[in-house]
Amino acid sequence: MFGRIALLALALVPFAVGQAADDFESGWDDAAWPVYAPDCNQGGKVSLDSTTAKSGKNSIRVDGAGGFCGHVFFGTTKVPSGDVYVRAFVKASKALTDSHVSFITMPDSAQGSNKHLRIGGQSKILMYNRESDDATLPDLSPQGIAASKALPTGDWQCFEYHLGTDGTVETWLNGEAIDGLTVKAGVTNNNAAQWQRSSSKPKITGIYFGWESYGGDTNTLWYDDISISSTRVGCTGGSASP
Ligand code: CA
Repeated sequence: MFGRIALLALALVPFAVGQAADDFESGWDDAAWPVYAPDCNQGGKVSLDSTTAKSGKNSIRVDGAGGFCGHVFFGTTKVPSGDVYVRAFVKASKALTDSHVSFITMPDSAQGSNKHLRIGGQSKILMYNRESDDATLPDLSPQGIAASKALPTGDWQCFEYHLGTDGTVETWLNGEAIDGLTVKAGVTNNNAAQWQRSSSKPKITGIYFGWESYGGDTNTLWYDDISISSTRVGCTGGSASP
């Protein structure tokens, strides 16, 4: 009886709503991971790359051009309805600069139509940006900047984050929590004043990986072993073929 239940449970797992994982070893399924470039698309490019990978031989390469219209992303609308945990390995060619950029963008219905919750960089550190009011997490004060981290270049980094239905935001780089990018009940973040001036709780409808630059910054990034799940998979779990 227990064996039978376990088998049924296993059989159901691949069809769970709002889950997505890919190591891209079967190639780039652009129906499952379509290109996303709202409003305009000039100069950016998404491609399968078999010359560098976190797992196997394949990853997805994003050539991000400068300026807003140089943006390009790939991703999915298969988002869990409750807690959202995202794990992606990312390799960036160039360091984050003082200019504002995004490398993950998520349409966020809590902010209104065609508004995004973004993860990227400014002041040389990783940060979140809420498109509707341009709030950043952390505050870009010297203390806020010190509470985040740079995104290392030239090698694969395990980037993870969690969005909770209560507005929780948690973020990890190579398994270590980033204090400045953490907002949750019971934890004081002294560098989240700008973020918390709104009570907006992210309700994302898609998750897209790529590059968007609001100045002239260009970059080439690779993504591999993406997992979107309702539980945290960490840096070693969850990498799977579709
Ligand atoms: Ca791979």
